[in-house]
Amino acid sequence: SKFIGTLTLQFHHRFTETVALQKTTHLLNIGLMRLLDDIRIKEHHQLIQRILNGLREAILFVDVTNTNIFTNRVFHQLFPNWSPSENQSENLAFVIEAFESLILETDALYAYVEQIKVGFEHASVVPAQDFSMPDDRHLRLYAEFLPERQGILFVFRERTVEVNHAKKEQNFISVLSHELRTPLASIEGFSELMLHRSLSPSKQRKYLETMRSETQRLSQLLTEFLDYQRLSHQKESYHLESFCIEHMLIELTEWLNVATSTHHLQIQTNGPCLITADPEKIRRVLLNILNNAIKYSPVDSNIQVSLACCEAEVIITISDDGYGIPKQDLPYLFDPYYRVEHADHLQVQGTGLGLPICKEIIEAHGGRITVHSEVGKGSDFFIRLPRDEEWNTTNNMYKSSMNNLQLGSEERGS
Ligand code: ADP
Repeated sequence: SKFIGTLTLQFHHRFTETVALQKTTHLLNIGLMRLLDDIRIKEHHQLIQRILNGLREAILFVDVTNTNIFTNRVFHQLFPNWSPSENQSENLAFVIEAFESLILETDALYAYVEQIKVGFEHASVVPAQDFSMPDDRHLRLYAEFLPERQGILFVFRERTVEVNHAKKEQNFISVLSHELRTPLASIEGFSELMLHRSLSPSKQRKYLETMRSETQRLSQLLTEFLDYQRLSHQKESYHLESFCIEHMLIELTEWLNVATSTHHLQIQTNGPCLITADPEKIRRVLLNILNNAIKYSPVDSNIQVSLACCEAEVIITISDDGYGIPKQDLPYLFDPYYRVEHADHLQVQGTGLGLPICKEIIEAHGGRITVHSEVGKGSDFFIRLPRDEEWNTTNNMYKSSMNNLQLGSEERGS
């Protein structure tokens, strides 16, 4: 049905040999059929390529019937250095050869490819397998078989973020169990003492105070852990209402000035400022950042709070003159369980979950939280929140979780 081209035959003498003409026609016919076949195959390849490129997973497709190999765009992003071997022949040997330098456990890969061969022969499912790549990257590989043994789809999925997150969570759980045991042991010890010994009222009071502060520590640990779990799995609901953020900031700073006599909080605002947000969650964020400013700065130092109420957004700045944050830690500060490994910081108890919780909440409101800091000079935390009530919580919650806790941190004063 398609016009391909024309062929002109020119004869120098009068043409009489019909047999020769028949033969020529026959040859032409075969040639044409091949040409059409080539076109069909080319179109078929383009279609396969388009389908593969539209997939989100990295794919290597072995077209067994036509002994062809296809890879998609995501595959080349995952393996920029991948080059198929010269001999892409049978036995899937090329898979091992081509991935030898890209996957660390070559023996395991070899065994897995053997399993795939068996699965392919018997059309049985082969479970996915995890592999490590250089530079501490992780990969999951599985194979899907086309009906009637027409082909094998190797599907690769990078799991580095997942694995690192699981490692951090595991690490946190061991830290958490240690942190839980310490206050529990101290509560148990002091209560035993109080039960079995007659103690002076002043000693009793001292022990009770220790038990109370240990209980508070336990409760804070558990609350932060559970809150972070809920927030990061998008199981939190947001109750939006219009309220005055200036009023909330004044209330919090006044209360902290009374509750902690060790630091001096000052506030600067331009008057009432209404925003639409979840007041409880915003209070939680502000309290967290203010408490950090107190925790990570020396006794008697000042903490400045300011509010800029603009038409489209509000900018809250909380600045301290404390220990500051080393430059190399800034990019990771909002990662879950991240704590600065510095003597001044480590003497303060913490979980490394406060800032990730703040980030989740602020981004769920369509806002941003950033930090400027310099070691020995102090830190400024900036919280930007839109004033507009048009933003869509669900959308922003989704976006914030997709961002996977990456946040631009900058140096103080830059
Ligand atoms: P936590 O305080 O429970 O350890 P956060 O997530 O609130 O956890 O903070 C993470 C880390 O960021 C802290 O361990 C601390 O090292 C650093 N940090 C947070 N706020 C400040 C601040 N105002 N000044 C200096 N360092 C800070």
